[in-house]
Amino acid sequence: MTTAVNPDTYYGPSFAALLDQDPEIAGLLVSELDRQRTGLQLIASENQTSPAVLAAVGSTLSNKYAEGYPHARYYGGCSEVDKVEDLAIERAKKLFGADHANVQPHSGASANIAVYGAFTAPGDTVLAMSLDHGGHLTHGFKVSFSGKWFNAVHYGVDKDTEDIDYDQMEALAKEHRPTMICAGGSAIPRLIDFERIRAICDEVGAIMWIDAAHFIGLVAGKVIPSPVPYADVVSFTTHKVLRGPRGGAIVCKEEHGKKIDRAVFPMMQGGPLMHGVAGKAVNFAECMTPAYQAYAQQVVDNARVLAESLGEKGIRPITGGTDTHLSLHDLRGVGVTGVDAEARCDAAGIVLNKNAIPFDPEKPNVASGVRVGSPSLTTQGMGPEQMKVVADLIHRAVTEGDADPEHAVSQEVHAQVAELLTSYPAYPEPAAG
Ligand SMILES: *Cc1c(COP(=O)(O)O)cnc(C)c1O
Repeated sequence: MTTAVNPDTYYGPSFAALLDQDPEIAGLLVSELDRQRTGLQLIASENQTSPAVLAAVGSTLSNKYAEGYPHARYYGGCSEVDKVEDLAIERAKKLFGADHANVQPHSGASANIAVYGAFTAPGDTVLAMSLDHGGHLTHGFKVSFSGKWFNAVHYGVDKDTEDIDYDQMEALAKEHRPTMICAGGSAIPRLIDFERIRAICDEVGAIMWIDAAHFIGLVAGKVIPSPVPYADVVSFTTHKVLRGPRGGAIVCKEEHGKKIDRAVFPMMQGGPLMHGVAGKAVNFAECMTPAYQAYAQQVVDNARVLAESLGEKGIRPITGGTDTHLSLHDLRGVGVTGVDAEARCDAAGIVLNKNAIPFDPEKPNVASGVRVGSPSLTTQGMGPEQMKVVADLIHRAVTEGDADPEHAVSQEVHAQVAELLTSYPAYPEPAAG
């Protein structure tokens, strides 16, 4: 017998209770929603997850200890969470056509720690993309565990094409004989050649690891090629284009399944966040719908138009454009630094981030570029026509604007942002009646 469901109390986010008990935090939840609603959200790693996912994440599953895996736990009372995790695993395997899935990593970085744990020992050589060419901290950057505990060797992009230099990857692989080769990153606008990387890995006997944190949503939506048939292991986040709850996951070949599971728990983590696992299950089911596939295609179409439109205004896209959800832009043509562009946009209600461009002459905290992504605006229903308007607004804010929100141009652009958002709201209130 289950108890009666009152959707406003214990089964989902009980906002009234929070408001009553802790108005300070409740107020910040409201003002953050307001912030998300009133700006143009162009951070390429962000998205707006569904109310269904938010309900799962705000549930009493947060209370449950479930160290271990379904039907083999270290705690009693796991009957219901076992079913939740079984569903999440089944759905992940189906969505990605994978042999094995682990849905427990708390985040993308946690998933990556588990990948190192499964396939390498401290001191091993790992070959990955350098951070300043678009990689990630966890790919051997010196301040990360990965740079401290492993011998990281880095490839970058080709100076002319600005795309991954596979010849360099191959040469470094032959020279250093890495245990593992990683591809994927945070600022790579182009498709990755998985077939070529597989061949390089086979040539030197390395594990092929794809960190698909950024683009896995486009794979889920079947609009770009999947790394799953090629890679030994694919790690990813669930909160970027994929549009699920904040978290990580790993899919791999059957032969590596046990190693990955042991590396996630008990090597790297304790109890899984079962509310997060439930949110991932909800999201994986959403991703198998035609609506999500249409969304993923729109994300790519929008990113392409946004990149081109900015390029036409002298804000050059690195590699000449994009095949994915993001583009990286060189601001030197308009004579503005990344840090200034970010501040000017912010003052005008446009949220994006400064980003180093390959071979950047500026320090990382200044940077010559900005990174923009289409996932959030596409979730809000925008299309290519709106992307042209967004490009105009970014260009105006960057070239004529100011970090002061009271500046006339900041205010004018902000008013146009607000006007655009009235037609494409984030988290729209349900129509009355
Ligand atoms: C975002 C990202 C991560 C880390 O994800 P977190 O959830 O922030 O830990 C790892 N790798 C790549 C390539 C990423 O883009």
